[in-house]
Order: sequence, then structure tokens, then C-alpha cells
Amino acid sequence: MAELDVLQAILELEHKGGCADKAVWGGLDKYLDKKASEIRQGLVLTLKEVKRKELARQLLADFDGLNLAEQSYSSCGTDERKIWVTRTLDWLSELDKAKREVVTRDKPRSRERDGGLNSPITVIKGVAPKIAAKFARLGVATIEDLLYFLPRRYVDYSQRKTISQLEEGKEQTITATIWEARVATFGNWRSTEAIVGDETGTVRVVWFNQPYLARKFTTNARIVISGTVRKFKGKKVFESPEWELLESTTSSEPGEETIHTARLVPIYPLTRGLYPRQVRKWTREALDGYLGQAAEFLPSELRARCQLMDLPQALAQAHYPDTQPMAEKARERLAFDELLLLQLSVLSRKRSWKESQPGNAFTISHEVIDKFLSCFPFTLTGAQRRVLQDILDDLQQPKAMARLLQGEVGSGKTVVAAVALLIAAANGYQSALMVPTEVLAEQHFHNICSYLAEVAEQEEKTANIKCYSGFLSKPLTIALLVGSLSSSEKEDLHHEINQGVIDIVIGTHALIQQGVEFDRLGLAITDEQHRFGVLQRGALRQKGFNPHVLVMTATPIPRTMALTVYGDLDLSVIDELPPGRQRVKTKWLKPEYRDQVYRFIRREVSKGKQAFIICPLVEESESLETKAATTEYQRLSHEVFPDLKLGLLHGQLPSSEKEEIMRCFRAGEFDILVSTSVVEVGIDVPGATVMVVEGAERFGLSQLHQLRGRVGRSEDEGYCILIPERYSPEVKERLHFMEEIHNGFVLAEKDLELRGPGEFFGSRQSGLPDLKVAQLSNIHLIELARREAIALFNSDPDLKRRQNLLLKGKLNRLWTQKAEWS
Ligand code: ADP
Ligand code: MG
Repeated sequence: MAELDVLQAILELEHKGGCADKAVWGGLDKYLDKKASEIRQGLVLTLKEVKRKELARQLLADFDGLNLAEQSYSSCGTDERKIWVTRTLDWLSELDKAKREVVTRDKPRSRERDGGLNSPITVIKGVAPKIAAKFARLGVATIEDLLYFLPRRYVDYSQRKTISQLEEGKEQTITATIWEARVATFGNWRSTEAIVGDETGTVRVVWFNQPYLARKFTTNARIVISGTVRKFKGKKVFESPEWELLESTTSSEPGEETIHTARLVPIYPLTRGLYPRQVRKWTREALDGYLGQAAEFLPSELRARCQLMDLPQALAQAHYPDTQPMAEKARERLAFDELLLLQLSVLSRKRSWKESQPGNAFTISHEVIDKFLSCFPFTLTGAQRRVLQDILDDLQQPKAMARLLQGEVGSGKTVVAAVALLIAAANGYQSALMVPTEVLAEQHFHNICSYLAEVAEQEEKTANIKCYSGFLSKPLTIALLVGSLSSSEKEDLHHEINQGVIDIVIGTHALIQQGVEFDRLGLAITDEQHRFGVLQRGALRQKGFNPHVLVMTATPIPRTMALTVYGDLDLSVIDELPPGRQRVKTKWLKPEYRDQVYRFIRREVSKGKQAFIICPLVEESESLETKAATTEYQRLSHEVFPDLKLGLLHGQLPSSEKEEIMRCFRAGEFDILVSTSVVEVGIDVPGATVMVVEGAERFGLSQLHQLRGRVGRSEDEGYCILIPERYSPEVKERLHFMEEIHNGFVLAEKDLELRGPGEFFGSRQSGLPDLKVAQLSNIHLIELARREAIALFNSDPDLKRRQNLLLKGKLNRLWTQKAEWS
């Protein structure tokens, strides 16, 4: 550790000397270059002893953020040198504290980190542990969290008036002297009543149900009052306005800054037991005490180019803005930060995917492709051909493909995926296709097998392993791996996969479970990927030696969101349906017409068709949703369709049962499937022609579009009937879009515009980044952040330059936090 003490001494000297690079002979760069690895080694040893692991990780991440070994101190300007020296010294003192903690052990944490942005909010006077627990519910634990705990909106109390100027019905502010204040009773309410005056007159003020205020309002105290003036018995009166006492009793204008009155006043999102006045007091204190430590981390030229407010100012203005435009500028700056950091992490993830190891370049055999495609009764659409070409181009590169394939329900993604799987096999690599449900896995398995059977000799080795000869130069083996296989079947399969006997595996997430080791996985495809988390995607990837990765989704993702959330992937879109596809006829109906809908279902059932009835979405609680669906199922089976066969599907069934029910429905064993929204995923029930969605207003347009895609998948016409519980003008408008628009992308954009990103996928499956300020609908800012992130990334991919140092530190901290969460 001695090295670090030396470093500290040198830096202190350097700081004293005005950062003129005079502290060590030959310059700091030379010294650091020589000692960096020793320093790091010593550090790692020390950190091993730090009891709090997350703190140790944090310190190490911050240390790496300092880029000790980079030799460019000498080439930096004085300001940049100062920033770096100060930051390094700060870090050293953090480390020192952590070391002392090792020795003294159980000192309370708050004391240890006092003074920094990481201090718990209890360092603020008046924030007791009980209050902190309430803040925790709002995601606020540290001072830094509190600085970023932004108001939802502002009330404009900036209109200052004299008492004689007050107008009825407007929000206005006066500064006055209290003449008298007393407890008064109005009806059952004990209240406070005061007369206040300025040089132009007097006005009555009443605070209902707050008798305790009378004690605070001493005669002659100066008070600022903001609120709406009403007339009562012909006289003006303020009713329960915001108020603030001033310290100075003499000056006519308040010299001190107000936080509850006479300005744009922040309105925070609160939880039970937190009151607006307290929270304002505490955010003000946090800003006053700690803003200086919220270091600007954006490089100054970037900030200038994008005309962004500096960070401390932005934080201050976001809480207590001088004007509305300032508030907007401030929020824009903070939103930019979020988007930039997100983009940078996405870009570095993309790079590590592509460059961490070389990928496997495949040779494309057009003979294989043509032979396979010849077994279809159709030719590929233009869009399918274009997308296939994108994929083939990727596969030929010695870099791993990382591509997102979007295409509407029924646009024919499976064929394209199948070609890629075969190309991998033709190149002697294994490949995997992962889907969210067993039924889907079976569907894909059987489809691909039946296509191959047309052009090759089929041999069934077991029910879930088939082998084809005469297609490739060697036999081609395909397997189905799902959770419901017996454990001996699974073991056998794992063995064969591990031995490289299986070329293509189609399966559920059983594929990424332990025990599945590939011999040489070259391509991993996931279908309906929004159901898989990023981590699961990553897990499949890690089963191979940097395999090519293709993720497919039928959920159209608006462009801005694709750039943000899936920016680590290249994008291909199938924007065309095969010819002759019919639109699902869509209509919304008021609940009164439900009986007609039931009659219509009967008619279809009598023709041998099937129907879905989807129950209302209950975002907050799966068990409530289940209960509602179960009740509805009972009602329908006993009262409405006692003579028909009904099935019930909901998310709380074990997955094997869900699978079984879907299988039965597919096989035509039920006429009607009553279901919660779980049925959304790309399942094919050729016999289903009717989709009824109850509580339709609770679903996003994209979700409704997905649901509608479940019917009309054969020659028979499909019908989608939307029944809202309530129908405000907005609901009518949204449902009308569903009737008119049949393009998933257009609906997705509309959804984003109307309901915002949180609603887009439904929160239960969001997988969206945690953006506090930024809005995914702000295309301009997203594109700006993306442009800047790319420029930064191209010029300095590891953010090693001094001017990018603080930014890198910020990014590292973000990652360590993420790692702790997951
Ligand atoms: P999705 O994109 O929803 O996964 P699928 O790949 O399941 O769509 O294809 C839906 C149906 O369309 C399948 O029955 C498939 O055989 C058929 N299909 C795919 N491509 C074409 C095409 N170019 N022309 C006609 N039918 C096609
Ligand atoms: Mg599909």
C-alpha cells in the first residue's frame, strides 16, 4: 500500500503547485507508467479485505475510471489536470476510509461516507430513519438519489402582486406583514385565520383545519403567500394558500430565496407520510450542501456543441427553476445524460459482442438454400429475401452477427430463420432456436421437419430427434429440447448435443439451463424475443464460442425505441406480408352488445371454428387477473355456453399445464379458450377465427395487435371484437385506430405517442431501461445522444482520454450498480 501513499503525497504536491506537472522528476506520466501495475496489484490485495463487497467493487471501478496508466497528463490543459488530480485525491481518501473501516469494523455506515453524494439521506437534519424508509419506497436512498429526485411539475407562483392588485381566480403571490393570526372555527373545523397587510391594503387568509399555524404566525412577522384569491361575502380572501415566513422583518422585498411560494414551486411525486413542504426543505438542503460535489462529467466541447446546461446548474434548475424555459433546459440536460450513458453502454456491449473474440465466418451454399426453398409451395416475399440477404452477409463475416429481425405476425420469419440454421449445419456448426413456450417449440420443430422431409430422406431416431440424409453432404440431425421431456430423455439429448451429434436444437429455455453444453455452437436464434430478458439472451450466447446471434420479434418496435433499447443489435425488418393474406376484421362494441358477440361466436363454432375470449388486463396483480378470468370462465361455461367445450388459461398455472391447454385448444378439443393476456405469444391455432378482448381499453395497441394476430391464420376470415369497460373519447379514438390500422409499426408508433414507453410492452415484461427524466418519445434528443455517443465511441472507444475520464467513471459506476441489481 505504500505506493498509494506515495501517490497521494505526489498528487498533493502537484495540486499545491497548480498542476504544473512539477511534482515528480520527469513528469507524472512517466512515474505513473512505471508504477501503475504495482499500484493496482496493491489495491486489489487491499480491497480483498474490505468487508463490504459492493464498496470494494465500486472503488475498483472508480480506480479503473482514473486511467492511471494512460500517458497524457502532460498534454492536458490545466483545468483538465486539476479535475483529474482532485478526483484521484478524492478517490484516495475514499479508499482510506474503506481501509479504516476494515480496522474499526462496525462503525455505522452513515458516519463512514458522510460528506459524499453516497451518504444516506439521513445525514440531512430531520430525515429520520422512518422518513428514509418512506423515501426508499420512491427509490431514494442517498443524497445523489435525492438530487435526482425530480419534481413531476411546477406550480407557477411567480406572479407577485401588491394586495390592491390582487385579482380573483388567479394564482398570485404577495409579500405581507402579519397583523394578527388566531384560531377560528368554521363549522367543525378548527382553522387558522389571519389578516395580513402591505402598503396598499389588507387581505384575509384562512387555513382550514390547520389551527397549529396560528402559533407560528406571530404579529409583525413577514410572510409570503401564494395561492388563488376568492371572493367571500364581497371580500377577497386566500383559502389555504402556500405560505412561507421570511427571516428578515424589515426589507420590503424578501432577500432570501423562497421554496414554497413566490416562484415556480416544485411538486414532487410523493408517497404516504411524506409532505410537500418537508420534501422541498430537504431537496433544498441537499442542493445547498452537496451540489458542489455533483461534478460535471460531460466533456466541455460536447456540452458546448449540444448547448447543454452544466450539471450543477441543471440539477438546481430542475428542482427550483428560475423560469419555465430554464426548467425545460435543465430537464433536457438530465435526459440527455441518461440517453448518452445508455447509448454508450449499448455501444460498448455491441463492440464486446463483436470484437471480444473473432466470430466464425460461414460459407454460403446457394445450392443448399435453393434446394430447401424449393420445398415450399410459395416463393419468398421481397422483404423476406432482403432480410435473408442481410443475415447471409453477416454470417459470412469473421465477426459474430448481432441482429434483430422484426416482422409482423405471419410475415414469415420462421422460413428465414430456418435457412440460417441450415447454413450453420452445412458449415459443420451446431445451431439453436430458442422460443418462449413448448407449444411454439413443437410447432417450429414439426414445421421445419416437414419441410425437410420434402427434400430429404427422413429417419425418426426418437420422437424428438430426427435425422435427414441426402440433403447436406452428411446426415442432418434435428432435436426438440423442452422442459417436459423425462430426465433420462433430457440427459441423452444433453449428451448428444455435447458430442456434436445434434446439428440443430429447437427448444424452450431448457436450452440455456445447466447441463446443456454444445460441442460447437455457431448460431443462436431466439424467437419472440421480448419475452426473454437480456440476460437470457446473453446466456444462450455464452453456450458457444462467440456464436452468431439473431433475435426475432413480432412486436414492432418504434424506431426510437429500437435505437435505445436494442441499439446493440443491427436491425432488419420484414415490412410486407405474404400475398393474399386477409386482414382480421376488427370492431369495437359497447358492453351492451355482448350477447350479440356470443351469438356470433356460436355461429362460428357451429361451423367448426374456435374462439378466444381474453379477460381484462390487471397490470398490478397476476392473481387478480387470474381470479377475474376464472370467474369469467365459470360464468361463460355455466350461463352462456353450457353446451360448448371451454378451456381456461392463465399465467398462474404451472407451465406444463399451460402448454397442455394450448395443445388441446390447437387440436380442437375446446371450442372456446378463455384466457388472460398470456396467450399473446406467436402460437398458431389454425382453427381459431374469433378473438374477443374484454376490457380492451386496458391493453396497449401493440398488445391488441398481437392478440388479433392469433386469429385468421388460415384461409378463413378472422374477426377481432374489442369490448371496453369504459369508453371515454380517448378510448374510442384508440379503439378506432385498431379498426382502421392493420400495420403493427404504425400502431406501435401511435402507442408510444399516446401512452408512453412504460405502457408499450406492459410493465410486467418491459425490459426497458430505467429512464427517470428522458422520454422515449423524444426522438430529437435520442438521436442527438446517439450521434454524440457514436462520435465519442469512434474517437475514444475506451474513454481513456483525460477529458472523457469523468464520463467513464460515471459509466463504470452505472455498470457496477446494474451488476448489483441483477
Ligand atoms: P411469423 O413471422 O409470424 O413467425 P411464420 O414464419 O410462422 O410467421 O409464417 C406464417 C405462415 O406464412 C406460415 O404458414 C408460412 O408457411 C407462411 N409463409 C411464410 N412465407 C411465405 C411466403 N413468402 N408466401 C406465402 N406464405 C408464406
Ligand atoms: Mg413466429
